[in-house]
Amino acid sequence: MKWPFPSNRRKAGAPDLYHELREEIPEARKQGELPARDSGSFSRYFCDLCNSPFTIHELRQCSICGRWGCKDCWTQEYYICNSCNGILKMHLVRSRG
Ligand SMILES: [Zn+2]
Ligand SMILES: [Zn+2]
Repeated sequence: MKWPFPSNRRKAGAPDLYHELREEIPEARKQGELPARDSGSFSRYFCDLCNSPFTIHELRQCSICGRWGCKDCWTQEYYICNSCNGILKMHLVRSRG
């Protein structure tokens, strides 16, 4: 699995932070596990963060916690959900002192 930081950012320390987050954040879903299906629809699944229904193409699985997020619950920059991004930001602030 690749660390989702863009390659033009400094790489040093990033893998450690990634592993720190993986250890700190409990895995809500296994990687590759599908999101919860909307029982009222054949093609819609629920965003794990806002619980709104979306098609599978509109959802992305977080590489840290495994939850599925829609575009509003997603941090494209790091390829993680907004929930993990909040924790990541706390770590970044802490590591900068
Ligand atoms: Zn959402
Ligand atoms: Zn996440």
